[in-house]
Amino acid sequence: MQYLSTRDKSLRMSAAEAIKMGLSRDGGLFTPVSFPTLGTLELETLCQMSYQQRAAYIMERYLEDFRPEDLALFARRAYGPEKFDHPDAAPLRKVNDRTWCLELWHGPTSAFKDMALQMLPQLLSASLRMTGEEKTACILVATSGDTGKAAMEGFADVDQTKILVFYPEKGVSEIQKLQMVTQEGGNVGVCAVKGNFDDAQNGVKRIFSDEAIREELAQRGYFLSSANSINWGRILPQIVYYVSGYCDLLNAGEIKLGQKVNYCVPTGNFGNILACYYAKRMGVPIGKLICASNRNDVLTEFIRTGVYDRNRPFHTTMSPSMDILISSNLERLLFDLSGRDDELVRGYMEKLAKEGRYEIGREMREQLQELFYGGFCGEEETSASVSMMYQYGYLIDTHTAVAAKVLTDYRKETGDTAPAIFVSTASPYKFCDSVLTAIGEKPVKNSLERIDQLQAASGVPAPGRLAALKEKEVRFGQVVRKEQMEKAVLDFLR
Ligand SMILES: *Cc1c(COP(=O)(O)O)cnc(C)c1O
Repeated sequence: MQYLSTRDKSLRMSAAEAIKMGLSRDGGLFTPVSFPTLGTLELETLCQMSYQQRAAYIMERYLEDFRPEDLALFARRAYGPEKFDHPDAAPLRKVNDRTWCLELWHGPTSAFKDMALQMLPQLLSASLRMTGEEKTACILVATSGDTGKAAMEGFADVDQTKILVFYPEKGVSEIQKLQMVTQEGGNVGVCAVKGNFDDAQNGVKRIFSDEAIREELAQRGYFLSSANSINWGRILPQIVYYVSGYCDLLNAGEIKLGQKVNYCVPTGNFGNILACYYAKRMGVPIGKLICASNRNDVLTEFIRTGVYDRNRPFHTTMSPSMDILISSNLERLLFDLSGRDDELVRGYMEKLAKEGRYEIGREMREQLQELFYGGFCGEEETSASVSMMYQYGYLIDTHTAVAAKVLTDYRKETGDTAPAIFVSTASPYKFCDSVLTAIGEKPVKNSLERIDQLQAASGVPAPGRLAALKEKEVRFGQVVRKEQMEKAVLDFLR
């Protein structure tokens, strides 16, 4: 299978090259030239498999130049009992007769980023081998919390890679900080930046475009790479759980093969829901793709009107991983919906960069609306959604609560009561503060004690690794000014 750029489809790469490069040189995103299909027979086969086997089976279809036994090994390592606290990796929980929740936070950092970031480092390491790359990849990450930890956990001690994470000194939660500064692994580094997330992010971008640093690092045997969700190696592992969720419903006797199931996904950068769209493209009987946003409702508006407009206030919410105004992965959907019109996509992206706005044509909008429903959920409604689910006996986090609410709205508005799965992207224990408040408790002052508090109040056990943070040794304490980030990279890669 070859991969082409969304901004120039004459540019073709092998899977290994696409994963190694991350982003195409023209700024486009790599997309597979075609989608392998899963027919009745394949779905029946997948139903008999474990999550790890399903992952290897689906990835094989897209990564034909990789050895199947390698992919099987990667999947066992990524989703095995050492990393995941549930044998199904992505278990389905029944909420009521027509509604299920796909829990994607049973991995090492208790957020759904693990589903992809446990796999990407292994795919990257293999890609380096396959393309004859001799240099070591150094992953630079600027994080506002979740991604940095999940990336380190995935890259820790992976061959031919190193990873350095920058986080804003005062811009992450106490728990997120502790998760990062206690990270183990011989190839990882963590550095706080005096400033906010933008300072850290701009610093990383500056380093990426600094020719002198690149040259210096090349001489030392390194090249810079990134682990964010535009890399095909992050999207692909996410397709698996949408197929897997369908298989689990079949296995439980809840649906018949061929029956349509709707998915509702809490969305930020559009990576997660794009993977769901790809699963549908592969032939999995998925009905509506319900795109759930928080108060930052740029995608809701886009799906309803065909106008993407980022010129609007940015809201900080209790579902911070969805506080995004530029959903990068939407570009891949536009490419597909336009019949792979690279020129058109390039035009939209230029407009977005220049004016912060673009509008798609009528035909594309109608297609978009046929496939997707967009809805959003404000702050009070998010809190109410956590509280309501809790009364039904299910403790969920704020991001998941957005999805639960938008699914209810969708059903009311359209009368479509088909079986539906909403996606749970984080453990409630990652957002103790908002969750405690929502269920009527007053959060105690110390953030680690809030884990115990939520556990005592709800009776739901906290993920082992979060509960064990207290005992972990702090390994990293470096704090730099934003101008010193270059030096921090050079020191890290001595
Ligand atoms: C990253 C993240 C999201 C958003 O996922 P996208 O792929 O960016 O749409 C939602 N919830 C949580 C908890 C996340 O960490």
